[in-house]
Amino acid sequence: MGEKAVNIPEIFGSLVFNDKEMRERLPEDIYASLQKTLSEGGEIEKDVANAVASALKDWAISKGATHFTHWFQPMTGITAEKHDSFITAMPGGTAIMEFSGKSLIKGEPDASSFPSGGLRATFEARGYTSWDPTSSAFIKDNCLCIPTVFRSFSGEVLDMKTPLLRSMELINTEALRILRLFDINDVTKVTPTVGPEQEYFLVDRKMAERRRDLMLTGRTLFGAKPPKGQELADHYFGSLRPRVREFMQELNEELWKLGVYAKTEHNEAAPAQHELAPIFVAANLAADHNQLTMEKMKIIAENHGLLCLLHEKPFEGVNGSGKHNNWSLETDTGNNLLRPGHDPAGNKLFLLMLVAVISAVHKHQDLLRIAVASASNDNRLGGNEAPPAIVSMFIGSDLEGILNSMAGIAPMPSAEVSRKLDSGVKSLPNINRDKTDRNRTSPFAFTGNKFEFRMLGSSLSVAETNVIINTIVADELRSFAEVIEAAPDRAAAIDEVIVSKYREHSAVIFNGNNYDPGWSEEAKHRGLLNLPTTPDALPYLTSEENIGLFARNHVYSETELVSRQEILYDKYEKDILIEANTMIEMASRQILPGVIENLNVLLGTLKSRHDIGLPTSLNAERLLIEKIDPLAKAMVNAIDSLRSTVDACSELAHAKDKADFCRDRVIPAMKELRTVSDSLEEITGEYYWPFPTYADLLYGV
Ligand code: ADP
Ligand code: MG
Repeated sequence: MGEKAVNIPEIFGSLVFNDKEMRERLPEDIYASLQKTLSEGGEIEKDVANAVASALKDWAISKGATHFTHWFQPMTGITAEKHDSFITAMPGGTAIMEFSGKSLIKGEPDASSFPSGGLRATFEARGYTSWDPTSSAFIKDNCLCIPTVFRSFSGEVLDMKTPLLRSMELINTEALRILRLFDINDVTKVTPTVGPEQEYFLVDRKMAERRRDLMLTGRTLFGAKPPKGQELADHYFGSLRPRVREFMQELNEELWKLGVYAKTEHNEAAPAQHELAPIFVAANLAADHNQLTMEKMKIIAENHGLLCLLHEKPFEGVNGSGKHNNWSLETDTGNNLLRPGHDPAGNKLFLLMLVAVISAVHKHQDLLRIAVASASNDNRLGGNEAPPAIVSMFIGSDLEGILNSMAGIAPMPSAEVSRKLDSGVKSLPNINRDKTDRNRTSPFAFTGNKFEFRMLGSSLSVAETNVIINTIVADELRSFAEVIEAAPDRAAAIDEVIVSKYREHSAVIFNGNNYDPGWSEEAKHRGLLNLPTTPDALPYLTSEENIGLFARNHVYSETELVSRQEILYDKYEKDILIEANTMIEMASRQILPGVIENLNVLLGTLKSRHDIGLPTSLNAERLLIEKIDPLAKAMVNAIDSLRSTVDACSELAHAKDKADFCRDRVIPAMKELRTVSDSLEEITGEYYWPFPTYADLLYGV
């Protein structure tokens, strides 16, 4: 790629039909009318839609686009698009480029090919996409992408975006209500902001192509531990390999053109693991941008002979990948409602917000767990460096001290501990200490002016997580507001809510090491939920309490919740069965033949030794044969047993039963087969092992 200088401000957003483009390209009255609809809601008028469509088309064509698509986020967790060209046929075999307001506003993809969890009867395949003007249109691969939401014929939500937008409106309403209680009247909008830190692995593509597990499931299903893992901690923040640096450079440029604020990049803890963090934006944009980021990562990796793995646990025994969801609330006057300020103890608005999040998380641990539930993420939760499947919070000792003293649990912490960090070197400046220390193990950590939810998996959409966070916090804010509004003395009522809610919910706060083996016992003691697997968590989604929560907040109807649960069970089962079948195929058609070939060579040598009269009782060939032979037999048995377990699963009728069966029977059978294979890998000749090993993959770039 050379050292070509990039003019970032010039390319930034060059492929986005942003506000600046709109203002320049739309007639003034049309622009004003669109803005009005955007801020106040309501239907977009026909002539406005037509004018916007025409301007969009001209802009897109000037950027080389030939097609357009309604870009949406069905419940697969990734994005979907169907391309149509702008071409309209004209008499005499000619064509013109056309794009109407109607095509902008509404699309009609066949909903039957997207998961609906029973929402869509087979005779009713219709689904509609409709323009979401809160997110800008952009160009990707010569195609104008129009962000849309996706609904069924009967109006039920079939995507991840609609509930996110609903939850954003909800938290806006409830947060404004709280601000008014503090006589803050200049704020007209509160927006949840999200900055997702995306972790991923890069491996050599040619090597990866030789592994069906990586190509089909995104993770290795076999693989003995490499001689060198991450014990030296020499990869984290290490210097970038040239191929990786070139990949990152191209990725950044492509993302900048799409208006994504790609900001921080570094090597992560595991070998071949990396991270990209953008500057935070409004939650719905963050969801769009993160989808684009994941898509671009995969595509651009190919340009560099790499394969990008977004799976949560591509390599057993090596750190998995998460997507830390940084979340806060920002006012349109530029204030972060989770900023403690210089005097957190006197900042009652901040403390009220903080306690709202604490009680929301404590009351709705189940929903936060469900938001990150998937077969792939189950491999990571509870694993090395990853948060365990118990939802707890870290707020730091300073804030805990303030709340404890307000609640009369402990005296106020001794006046201001030195806020300066002394580097001990005279020539280095002292830096201000953060209000909170870092706790890398906490699933839900307050990190200075935002909360960082770390259970989210690297491959998952951020949409669902933020639907949940917005909804549960808004629900708390409303109940706080109701109490405070009704009280004769507001200031006293605010203190009273902070104290009583903190007392009620402080059991969720845990500042210790979440990976400590004693923590799960302690958590049980505190009555916290521990839901290690997806099928353990999913039943909670449709509890009476959760149906009530989403209904009163108008985020999901009961029907929508039931359908989502069905989709999640179904996806879990399918993911596991694909893995199981891939293992069966690799073991029987690749590993076993390789092992037997090795065995045959050993047997041949042994026979030759015998033929020429050399001793054959205690020689190397015989000893090796005696080790390999029983393992090969065990592998045949393990394959058979996995196969019959998979067959038994298909006999079951209900999604929930299948998912439970996968957890209880299929996964143990997979583990069994893997254990045998990994032992064989350690003693089989490299020449006979059919695909690249962990060491090849982790150190091959
Ligand atoms: P770290 O988590 O390593 O301390 P940063 O403080 O740089 O790193 O932040 C990590 C992520 O948090 C970034 O994506 C950043 O944009 C995001 N972030 C920072 N402030 C906010 C905020 N107010 N709301 C949402 N996300 C935020
Ligand atoms: Mg972080």
